[in-house]
Amino acid sequence: MTVAIVTAIPPAPFPRKGVTKSEKLEYTMLNYTVDAAGIATLEWDYPGKSQNILNEASLRTFVETSRMALADPSVKGLLVCSAKKDFIAGGDLEMLLGATDVKAFHASIVNWNLFTRELEKGGKPVAAALCGTALGGGLELALCCHYRVAADNPKARFGFPEVTLGLLPGAGGTQRTPRLVGMMAAAPLLTEGKRIKAAEALKLGLIHAVVAPGEERAAAKAWLLGDGQGNALQPWDRKGFKIPGGGPNTPAGMQMLMAGNAMLREKTYDNYLAPKHILSCLYEGLSTDLDTGLAIEARYFTHLATGAQAKAMIRSLFFGMQEANKLASRPANLANPVPPQKYSKIGMLGAGMMGAGIAMSTAAAGIDVVLLDTAQEAADKGKDYARKQWTKQVQKGRMTPEAMEGLLGRIHPTASYADLAACELVIEAVFEKREIKADVTRKTEAVIAADAIFASNTSTLPITGLAEASVRPANFIGLHFFSPAEKMPLVEIIVGKATSDATLARAMDYVRAIGKTPIVVNDSRGFYTSRVFGTYVSEGMALLEEGVPPALIDKAGLIAGMPVGPLALADEVSIELVHKIAQQTRADLGAAYVERAADRVAAKMVAELGRLGRKSGAGFYDYPADGPKHLWSGLAEQFPLRVGADGTATISLDEIIERLILVQSVETLRCLEEKVLRAAIDADVGAILGWGYPPFRGGPIGWLHMLGLPQAVTALDRLAAQYGPRFAAPKLLREMAARGERFYPA
Ligand code: NAD
Repeated sequence: MTVAIVTAIPPAPFPRKGVTKSEKLEYTMLNYTVDAAGIATLEWDYPGKSQNILNEASLRTFVETSRMALADPSVKGLLVCSAKKDFIAGGDLEMLLGATDVKAFHASIVNWNLFTRELEKGGKPVAAALCGTALGGGLELALCCHYRVAADNPKARFGFPEVTLGLLPGAGGTQRTPRLVGMMAAAPLLTEGKRIKAAEALKLGLIHAVVAPGEERAAAKAWLLGDGQGNALQPWDRKGFKIPGGGPNTPAGMQMLMAGNAMLREKTYDNYLAPKHILSCLYEGLSTDLDTGLAIEARYFTHLATGAQAKAMIRSLFFGMQEANKLASRPANLANPVPPQKYSKIGMLGAGMMGAGIAMSTAAAGIDVVLLDTAQEAADKGKDYARKQWTKQVQKGRMTPEAMEGLLGRIHPTASYADLAACELVIEAVFEKREIKADVTRKTEAVIAADAIFASNTSTLPITGLAEASVRPANFIGLHFFSPAEKMPLVEIIVGKATSDATLARAMDYVRAIGKTPIVVNDSRGFYTSRVFGTYVSEGMALLEEGVPPALIDKAGLIAGMPVGPLALADEVSIELVHKIAQQTRADLGAAYVERAADRVAAKMVAELGRLGRKSGAGFYDYPADGPKHLWSGLAEQFPLRVGADGTATISLDEIIERLILVQSVETLRCLEEKVLRAAIDADVGAILGWGYPPFRGGPIGWLHMLGLPQAVTALDRLAAQYGPRFAAPKLLREMAARGERFYPA
């Protein structure tokens, strides 16, 4: 007999498609069957979603049904499985994003833990049949079962991704995992969010068996009726249990935790709460019994889940990226919708660093690329770059030689414009010179179809101006990739004055087709990403001019969570480029141009000292051939240190960090105010994916949200009074703060 276990709590999203409010509000969560042999099957089947997720409604249903099975004398064992292609995807992030009541949240975790102990010690064997992926809370639920058997499904992954969203596996994951596989094997799963395949999970001891797909339920039942009978005890509930490899207070355990802590601090400067709390759960929780360990974990989990950091990360890294990848901002002209465009062939002008990388990403998505440069030899060089990069993948066993040849076969190097004829889209990544870009635009438009799109990968030149060279500016758009283009996940799409909605929609389809995340911005000098990223570099150079020790400036950048210090970054992008952009801006703006400290520093480094950055082997750093780079010793003479009477810097580390971070937020606000940015979340997603802005801050706007807008205004007023109008709080911020408004829900 199969019983549909229903709940009156509406599952998200509500109302479900096809459900009207007048209908009886009941939703099937689980299918419950007891067979003739006495096996109760609890089959997860979350309504209205392709994946099973854990939230109040689904967990309550599972708990009540399990208790019913445990209490039923005819039931000899419980089988937990899924009606979907995967087991359980994890916790409901919408629910976690909304969790703010500390007491209520903690109580719900404690209740779950009490229930899992009932299940583990209820006297009846419980087995999980894992047909596919089990992540986060889904895997934790499986770990509460006495036996786990997985299908040999190549797509299935097992792991705890919580840490990547500022959370920890708080349904027993930090306690049961190391008690099963040892602390050493558990640490990378828990602190890095590593996902593993069934075979590795079996090897580690996370699961008991792997069987042919479709056999997993039968295998679980066989165990329930065989070895499982009279054997319904978890390892940690057996007499004499010892943590595999030793607990935290053994020499090996202590060494692992000490090294783990040190490595974490080195990597994250203690900015991320989640991995720190996970290590605390390991140390404190494994020093005691499981029940106390679960109580410890529940507190750390509550602290994370109800705190601002996890919410910022979930909002930007999960929901923000999800919306961007779903092309939520794709123009929807309901009267005349633009059908999704499929791409079969695109053209790439310029086979340099960017052109070669974009060609790689495109070919990898199964799209042919005509790679054009000024001479056949130059175009071939671009293809050689692709071969070199993919050969590394082959050597690491990540790609077969045949697959590589297949991808290379999609890249067609040429010097002839006639070869572009059938391209649906042509992207230029030639030298950053207006005349050259205009020339290639004209030559391309002479051969491509009238409805083909022409895109520029310019990093600085406004799109509207470049489109003047085009005979069909409505089809002209900016597609700004980041270096290295084959790896970086973001594309900033720039809409020029004449760009049509249809062109934007079709360009977004291309960005998704090659698996990248798009953000859409309006045209402006530096667009969004280069403009805001540039302020970080400039602020570092301003600090240098003020006499702050350069080592302190770059270290402060790292401690702030940025991937590279501002001076080191200036060297990487080249101080010459900073200088050139300043000169161009000065020429373009004339009297309206306001000189910045960074302009003076760049001019001195480039024009006076000939130190152009890393590419010339000399910038703020020296790059000796026989050793690691180090700060140039001449900096002290060029930019004399200003120190206090006690010989230390006159500015605190905290204030340097504050300046390096808030200068980005202010510029982002200006981009919002000027409508360069269309939404705050685009700013946050773009910053994290585009230039490695620290995710724990949520993004340049997410960080203001975390500070509180009134507090942000106060900080900016103080900085503006001391350092000038670049820190002046924009009107948008002041008004929102005064009205008690927020960028995101509280
Ligand atoms: P690059 O110098 O590595 O490559 C430019 C290529 O264009 C060269 O192979 C050159 O031979 C070719 N080229 C020049 N004139 C040409 C013409 N008339 N017809 C065909 N090919 C021609 O430069 P890059 O770093 O790849 O940058 C290219 C573009 O991408 C620039 O507009 C740059 O601003 C932009 N961009 C660069 C980066 C970056 O980090 N390097 C990031 C984003 C955007």
